[in-house]
Amino acid sequence: MKNKKRVERCIISLFPRVLEPRVYSWVMTSAERFSELIRVQTVSSYDPSEEDSTAFDRIPSLLEELYPAAHQAMERELVGDRGIVFRWEGTESHLSPILGMAHYDVVPPGDSEKWQRPPFSGEIVDGRIYGRGTLDDKGMLAAWMEAAESLASQGKRPHRTVYLAFGGDEETTGQRGAARIAALFAKRGIRFAYALDEGGAVATNQLKSFVSGPVALIGAAEKGYLTLCLRAQGMSGHASAPPKHTAIGRLSTALAALEAHPFPLALSEIPQAMLSALGRAAGGFKGFLLSHPRLFKPLILSQLGARSSMASLVRTTLAMTVVRGGERDNVLPNEAQAQINLRILPGESIASSMARVRNIIHQAVDGDVSVEVVEGSAFEPVPASPIEGPDWDFLKSAVRQTWPQAVVAPYLMTATTDSRWYRDVCDAIYRFIPMDVTARESQAVHSEDESISLEAWERGVSFLTQVLEGQKG
Ligand SMILES: [Zn+2]
Repeated sequence: MKNKKRVERCIISLFPRVLEPRVYSWVMTSAERFSELIRVQTVSSYDPSEEDSTAFDRIPSLLEELYPAAHQAMERELVGDRGIVFRWEGTESHLSPILGMAHYDVVPPGDSEKWQRPPFSGEIVDGRIYGRGTLDDKGMLAAWMEAAESLASQGKRPHRTVYLAFGGDEETTGQRGAARIAALFAKRGIRFAYALDEGGAVATNQLKSFVSGPVALIGAAEKGYLTLCLRAQGMSGHASAPPKHTAIGRLSTALAALEAHPFPLALSEIPQAMLSALGRAAGGFKGFLLSHPRLFKPLILSQLGARSSMASLVRTTLAMTVVRGGERDNVLPNEAQAQINLRILPGESIASSMARVRNIIHQAVDGDVSVEVVEGSAFEPVPASPIEGPDWDFLKSAVRQTWPQAVVAPYLMTATTDSRWYRDVCDAIYRFIPMDVTARESQAVHSEDESISLEAWERGVSFLTQVLEGQKG
C-alpha cells in the first residue's frame, strides 16, 4: 500500500498536469482531490465586481476532472452562474428524492499573515488539511462527491433518487445559487423527502458540561435573520453651540434602551428536544433535570440565558454591528444611523421582532429614531423539521454506524444556511456537517487557520456514502 502511494506521488510529481484528467484523478488520494478544491479561491462578495469569476467558473470542470465516475453516473445541470445540480436516478425512483447540499464559495481569508499556512494552500500535513473552506463548506462538498465517486466506481446506485445542489454564494445571500435552484425545483414540481445541508457537527468537547462523549448535533430548525437600520435626525451646525439633544445622542439613547431590554427567554421545540436528548445521556440529577425541560423550565432558561454560548438557543438575539454619524470633530451631523442584526427564535417573526424594537425605541426617545428593514436582510425563522419518523431514524442510525459513541441531538441553527431557500420544496430540512469538530476548530471558521483532520473528514465521507445509498426497501 505504501509503495503504491509512493509510485502515485512519483507519477504526479513527474507529470503534474499533463495526464489525462481521468488518469490524474485515479492516482490522486481522496485528500488530494479535496485539497484541489481548497486551492480554488472562490471568495464570494456582496459586490460581484470584487469576485474572481474565473475561480467560480473553474469549479464545475474541476469537479468533472476529480470525480469522473460520479459524473458518468449522474446528470449535471448548471443553474445560473452560481449553481451546480446533480441528479442520480435511484433504483426505487417512484419514491420521493432526497437532496444533498453544500456551498463552494468561501469568506475572505482576512489577514493572510495571521495564518500559519497560506489560506488557499490546501496543505496536507500530519493528517490535517489546511485552508479556507476546509470546514465551511468545501469539506462537505468534497465529501458528497467522494461518496458519489466511490459508489459509482463500485457500480452501485442509490435506492432513492438523489439530487446534489451546490451553491456558489451562500456566504453573501444565496440568491444566485440556492434560491435559483430551489425555484427551479419548485417549477418542476420536485419535492424532497428530506434535505441535508451544512449546520451542526459532531461536537467532540463543546458540550462537556452536559455529556462527556461526542454529540452529533443535527440542525432541525433555523433562526430567522433581520437587519434593521435606525436613523436619528438632528440639526447640523457648529459644534460650539449644540442643542440639548443631538442626532448621535438620540441614537445612543435608543441603542442603550435596546441593550437594556433583551428579548425574553423562551424554550422552543428543538432546543427542548436537544436538552431532553442530552439529559437522557447524562443521567444523574442533571440528566433528570434536563430530560424534564417543561418541569424545570424557569431554572433551565435562566441557566442557559446566562451563558452567551447557549443564550442564542433560547432568545432572539440583537447585535449592534454598524454605527455611523459625523465626519468632523467640530461639526454636528444632521443624521446618525446604526444597524442592528437580529436572529429570530422560531415562534417569533420579523413583524413581532420589529414591533418590539419599535416599542422599546418609542419608550426611550419617542418618535425621534426611525426603524427600517435593510433590503434583502429579512428572513423568517425556518420551523422545526420532524424529529421522529423513518427519515430521522435513518439519519440517526447512519450517525450511530459512523460514530458509535455519539449522542444524537436535534439542534437549533443560530446562523442562516442555504437550506432556508428550500422550505417550499421540502418539509424536512436537516443541517449537519458530518465531521468531528472541536471547539477550537469551529472557532477557526470565518477566522484564521481553518483546518480539519482527515480522519474526521473521512468519517464524513463514510456517513454521506450511507446517506447517498439510502435505506433498502
Ligand atoms: Zn457555510
